[in-house]
Amino acid sequence: MLTRSALIYLSRQEGLKEFATRFAPFRKITRRFIAGEDIDEAVAAIREINARGCTASFDHLNESVTSTAETEAEVTEYLNVLARIDESGIDSNVSIKLTQFGLEIDPELTYRNARRVVEDAARRGNFVRIDMEGSSVTQATIDVFRRLRADFGLNDVGIVLQSYLYRTEEDARDLLKIPARIRLCKGAYNEPPEVAYPDKKDVDDNFVRVMQMLLTSGVYHGIATHDPKMIDATIEFANREGIGKDAFEFQMLYGIRRDLQEQLARDGYGMRVYVPYGKSWYPYFMRRLAERPANIWFVMKNLWK
Ligand SMILES: Cc1cc2nc3c(=O)[nH]c(=O)nc-3n(C[C@H](O)[C@H](O)[C@H](O)COP(=O)(O)OP(=O)(O)OC[C@H]3O[C@@H](n4cnc5c(N)ncnc54)[C@H](O)[C@@H]3O)c2cc1C
Repeated sequence: MLTRSALIYLSRQEGLKEFATRFAPFRKITRRFIAGEDIDEAVAAIREINARGCTASFDHLNESVTSTAETEAEVTEYLNVLARIDESGIDSNVSIKLTQFGLEIDPELTYRNARRVVEDAARRGNFVRIDMEGSSVTQATIDVFRRLRADFGLNDVGIVLQSYLYRTEEDARDLLKIPARIRLCKGAYNEPPEVAYPDKKDVDDNFVRVMQMLLTSGVYHGIATHDPKMIDATIEFANREGIGKDAFEFQMLYGIRRDLQEQLARDGYGMRVYVPYGKSWYPYFMRRLAERPANIWFVMKNLWK
């Protein structure tokens, strides 16, 4: 059986990425988790998501970009996305990754690139969420976010924290002082025990601790998980503390636990679905396989068909 860390390792292998993205049957299977390869397909997926009572967040798939020209293309893509959101009237914000905007080339370039997107979103009354990537860029991501947050308002730009990192509780405390809007998730990368809790129970306990800090902060945050235990803990805590359903939102990934997405929306909770699209789907897709062994059987079965 392929382990979680082996799959995450494979997600970073360029040779496999080349093979997988050219292999037509593999591309078809990715549609369970990826809305399509271009903006039109993502817009169509978001229309359906909105019709089910959920909001959305666009994610143009790309990460660890190594050329300045490619970062420029990513900025252009996001400016197009923000314009399309307004033209089409869909209910969606956008999520970006800073390595997509050049974080592994030059933090200054990244700041300038991200600033253009946040500025356009702010002008349109929209919102940019900065995803969190591997621990090698956690501090750099927070640093760029802090600069953007100093330039723009609370409702223009937000960040993500991962409960598997030891540092997250302190990061949450510091960021809430600004204040900042935070998406809390468990974390999807391979991290060593020096920086992240190796045991799921500790990751979950930290998720609940940080969730409680966020919910009592008076700021609108996103609780991003498909884990019924984390969702129940959030609902119970909110009920106990008299925190309204409109004071936070749940977030889930496209194609995962659609039943639960609809249930929470029906129950009156904000539910935002993260909608990835684009040609560079390989690392994202592999991380989704790593999260759930049953997904590998889903792939095998469908390749065989
Ligand atoms: C909206 C959103 C944004 C995110 N942004 C980031 C980010 O910026 N940085 C980051 O590191 N991570 C991000 N993640 C991923 C996150 O860190 C986890 O890796 C992922 O959500 C799985 O954790 P879980 O909380 O769902 O709990 P788990 O304990 O992993 O899973 C609980 C249950 O959820 C279901 N489930 C979970 N994953 C899958 C899957 N892939 N396929 C099918 N079923 C599944 C299963 O039923 C599973 O038993 C994001 C997740 C969401 C929902």
